[in-house]
Amino acid sequence: MTVSQRYDVLIVGAGFGGLCMAAIAKTAGLRVVVLERRSEVGGTWSQNTYPGCACDTQSHHYSLSFALNPDWTQRYAPQPEILAYLKQVADDHDLTPSIRFGESVASAVFDETTASWQVECEGGRSYQAQFVVSAVGQLNQPAVPEIPGMASFPGKTMHTAEWDHAYDFKGRTVAVIGNGASAIQLIPELAKSVRRLFTFQRSPNWLIPKLNRPFRPIEKSLLRHVPFLMRLYRWGIYWNWERSWPEFLVDSPQAQKRTGINRAGIEAAVRKADLREKLIPTYPLGCKRILLSDDFLETMQHEHVSLNTSGIARIERNEIVTNDGARVAVDCIVYATGFKSHDFLPGMNVVGRQGRSLKQDWDKAGGPNAYLGIAMPGYPNFFMTYGPNTNLGHNSIVFMLECQTRWILKLILKARRQGKGTAEVTEAALAAFNRDLERDLAKTAWAGSCSSWYKNAKGKVINNWSSSTVRYWRLTRRVQTSDFNLT
Ligand code: NAP
Repeated sequence: MTVSQRYDVLIVGAGFGGLCMAAIAKTAGLRVVVLERRSEVGGTWSQNTYPGCACDTQSHHYSLSFALNPDWTQRYAPQPEILAYLKQVADDHDLTPSIRFGESVASAVFDETTASWQVECEGGRSYQAQFVVSAVGQLNQPAVPEIPGMASFPGKTMHTAEWDHAYDFKGRTVAVIGNGASAIQLIPELAKSVRRLFTFQRSPNWLIPKLNRPFRPIEKSLLRHVPFLMRLYRWGIYWNWERSWPEFLVDSPQAQKRTGINRAGIEAAVRKADLREKLIPTYPLGCKRILLSDDFLETMQHEHVSLNTSGIARIERNEIVTNDGARVAVDCIVYATGFKSHDFLPGMNVVGRQGRSLKQDWDKAGGPNAYLGIAMPGYPNFFMTYGPNTNLGHNSIVFMLECQTRWILKLILKARRQGKGTAEVTEAALAAFNRDLERDLAKTAWAGSCSSWYKNAKGKVINNWSSSTVRYWRLTRRVQTSDFNLT
């Protein structure tokens, strides 16, 4: 075991959250190290490279406030451009020398005697830091369903998050299982080259037009040369999404109105009645993520694309057998089946005061939870970005990440200014936070009658924030000192 030097802040993950935390902590003069299991920065934008992969939040808003980019080529940038942006952020903020690539964190153990965290990596290296920030994201463990007979399939299989670019789809017969955010981006792209495309839908999604378009040279030039305009444009996008928050409250007049508009949109876009019926959800708008696409519904109407909703019974060699007895023979199966989203610290054993385990504490509590989605009592100086109950359905996660990282930095600096070694949220503060959270979550669409990756097996919403982002911003604007023990 090699123990390297002691850092002020150790960050796990070099995606949006980790880079943001590293940039602001370095600017504040803290000694920072970032441990990243992949060989490059980017997190989800490095992992997901399937054809059509892009952001469904407008790029001028899906970017860091201190690293605006006038050069986005379109309203919703594709994955390679977002990855390039994050690499640029790392370069511009001189973060790369602080990043240790290929380091997968196995455990983080709080040492009471030194009031610091001992972080062990799978390769055996060990790091010591006063503060640890986990920025590993919610969506990085691909979920592949257990389908009877799937091991007998002789053809190619892949998950959207583990794309095999060497496989040639041209002229092939392909099955895509799942029709979530990844699938609706992938299907239109695959349909351009495959011979037949069979899509398997378990439940439909509320889908709205993305209205993507490239920026004109004059627009890019204006945004570059008039930075105020770029900020104004960004704020316009923010408020446009933010004012849609009431649409995510069950049975609100706004939700009812928007449901009608969205249903009419799908009805107008899909010409055949039977297909239309299969593509319109019966659950409340927003219960699952609302999807944005300009080409998915049109693609589903192509002659060589079909939609199967009978449910998959089994796989028998190269055939997918559905519950109605139909069989389709395919060359390749793509699992667009999402992620294991309920383990907020995958592969990481976090051990706090008196040897307590964060996973066990969460199990006892009925699921992951944290004060502001960031801090837990018993785990001093340990924080999370994009932790429990911080995902959104209506606005940019990057906004939330910035709220979290700035709040964490404020707390660290406050502790340091007061000459304190540890900052630990109180049980009472967590309990009060959770009471409000649960009261508010019950009013949201996430709690509605659908299955989604927002809920755990007990039906508790553990991924999503319960209110507007303005409210989250207000809660994280300053540190409530009374909610903490600084020792
Ligand atoms: P997802 O939204 O969880 O979708 C998974 C799909 O697979 C669903 O349609 C699900 O059906 C289906 N499925 C799961 N298990 C199945 C089974 N056993 N049999 C048949 N179908 C099955 O996953 P995702 O599309 O990868 O997206 C996950 C999240 O990543 C999104 O919600 C979003 O937050 C993020 N994302 C964002 C972007 C972006 O543009 N920013 C792009 C991609 C992903 P059910 O709906 O019935 O469960």
